Amino acid sequence: MSPHRPRKRFGQNFLIDSDVIEKIVTAIDPQPQQPLLEIGPGQGALTQELLRHIEHLTAVEIDRDLVALLSRQFGKNRLTLHSEDILNFSLHRLQLPQNKRLRVVGNLPYNISTPLIFHLLQQSELIADMHFMLQEEVADRLVAPAGGKTYGKLTVMASYHCRIEKLFTVPPSAFSPPPQVHSALVRLTPHRPLPVAVDQLSSLEKVVATAFIQRRKTIRNSLKKILPSTMIKQAGVNPTLRPEQLSLSQFALLANQLSSRADD
Ligand code: SAM
Repeated sequence: MSPHRPRKRFGQNFLIDSDVIEKIVTAIDPQPQQPLLEIGPGQGALTQELLRHIEHLTAVEIDRDLVALLSRQFGKNRLTLHSEDILNFSLHRLQLPQNKRLRVVGNLPYNISTPLIFHLLQQSELIADMHFMLQEEVADRLVAPAGGKTYGKLTVMASYHCRIEKLFTVPPSAFSPPPQVHSALVRLTPHRPLPVAVDQLSSLEKVVATAFIQRRKTIRNSLKKILPSTMIKQAGVNPTLRPEQLSLSQFALLANQLSSRADD
């Protein structure tokens, strides 16, 4: 059988460094009875190591050639494979044992890592934690402090849903083919309870997205269409600030003003 040719459109950079793979699995620390989902198992580099620790793994892989290869390699008893696009896959379809939440792991396809994180954040009530290999730039955006250039919509929404840790960086040489950029492993652990009170999640999403469309503008200007400056002041937030200067708590105050406006 001919070897698999990596497909760029599926973001295929396969892990080849066994020390890095071991370090990832050590960080995940899989326990035998935990339900685990791997996104994009590829040729099984991580899958194989994970299955040393747990009985069974579920995976979602878009590339049909790889799905065929993985089923041959691991068999149905140990690996349940969904041959699908993870961006269209709802975690609700997985039948989780009662009171158990899912652990999600993956060396993510970098071309879809940001929309994929947003997709999973929407389902964080089902998730115990997530460990992702990402391009380092996205990892840095996730953990960015307020006030900086990389602090944005991803930072605010991810920190609303999760505690985020950047665990370690990985050079391009750990992958084949090597990506253009450095990578990093991050851990996202959904908060229980959530860190700030938000009446309607959709209001937080709207305020954050609108404010960051033009990040150089003051929020008085960028939020004008959805929240007049009097309401920004009523929320206790200074309307002359730029979005990168706002903490999660301040975005939550604005979101609650927006929700109260919709209730009028
Ligand atoms: N886990 C393997 C490894 O570490 O060697 C492969 C990682 S590779 C960076 C990303 C994997 O995600 C590939 O196997 C790719 O086919 C798969 N993939 C890409 N887009 C996907 C999507 N939308 N849904 C599911 N899997 C996807």
